[in-house]
Amino acid sequence: MKHKLFWTSLLALAMLTACAGEPGDISGGQSGTSVSASGPGDSASGSSALKEGEISQPEDYFDLVFDTSQDQGKLTARYLYLQTIYGTGKEAVTTGDSAVYTSPDGMVMLVDCGNVPGGQEVTNQLLAMGVDKIDVLVLSHPHADHVGGFVTVADNFEIGQVYVNGHEYDSGTYRAMMEKIEELSLPCEVLEAGDAFSLGEEVQVQVFGPTPGDTEEVAGGYLDANDGSIAMRLTYGQSSFWTSGDLYITGEQALTERYGQDIASDVVKMNHHGKDTSNGKDFVQAMSPKIAVGMFDSVASRTVAMRYIAGGAEVFYNSTDGAIRVSTAGDGVYDVQIQKIRDVAVLPDAPSEGHIVIS
Ligand SMILES: [Zn+2]
Repeated sequence: MKHKLFWTSLLALAMLTACAGEPGDISGGQSGTSVSASGPGDSASGSSALKEGEISQPEDYFDLVFDTSQDQGKLTARYLYLQTIYGTGKEAVTTGDSAVYTSPDGMVMLVDCGNVPGGQEVTNQLLAMGVDKIDVLVLSHPHADHVGGFVTVADNFEIGQVYVNGHEYDSGTYRAMMEKIEELSLPCEVLEAGDAFSLGEEVQVQVFGPTPGDTEEVAGGYLDANDGSIAMRLTYGQSSFWTSGDLYITGEQALTERYGQDIASDVVKMNHHGKDTSNGKDFVQAMSPKIAVGMFDSVASRTVAMRYIAGGAEVFYNSTDGAIRVSTAGDGVYDVQIQKIRDVAVLPDAPSEGHIVIS
């Protein structure tokens, strides 16, 4: 935990940056143009002619995040970095959720696909990993920032199995997704609490939500669509990863009342992009994570970030870190590689080459 001070300083910096920009503004900083504009491998060689006295350095650590040469024998999560602006004015949205998990024996599970243009960014990042088949694709809930990119992803990769939460949503994006599933005759099943499946030989995936009946309540308008999000935990040896889409505090409360500490996980994707609609005290306490990842174009809530930090977690955000790789050999120790380069003048404790080990 020696980097705690660094991360806290980083957070303060991120908040300043977030406050300075317009909503949805992602133009600040040295955002990784290598993700969408150039392909993998370009970042190290793409520097233009140097002036005298300038030091050559890679644009960012995109290549390290997406290098899969060390993945064998490890459960690895990559929290993808989606930057394309979609819509205009106040309606403009950028980041959606999309994370890819690879098992020690090379099986690939994608959870969510980002918004519509995000599908191309997801595709680019999967291609950078050398993925040609997605064995399992989970769509946590039918909102556009989670399923919008599905059509593009499905057009680019073979897909073994699709899992949805069963909420038939009234939107063009949702219908396009279902039509694509039908067009490609993809196996598609509904997940609910109590379900479980394996990702390869050694990773177990347990489903904790939605509970049977939740989907009807969502459809009837009694429960918000976000509270129908698929909640699940991946376990490999002593290591564990949690993901539950955009659950609100109501949904989190239902989980903590039902399962208590049984949902504790080392690595947690913050609910609802790290916003304070979610990530309540009871949830954070039940999870007691070592690592919490916020998938958004800013630090959505300082309160939430501080809550995770106070609970003992290191926090990472797409906005400050770009894409984030977290991998483990199943021993409860996590190797983290972030994409973006920090300003070492402001953050002298920046981990060397964006790399940090958390145990
Ligand atoms: Zn969302």
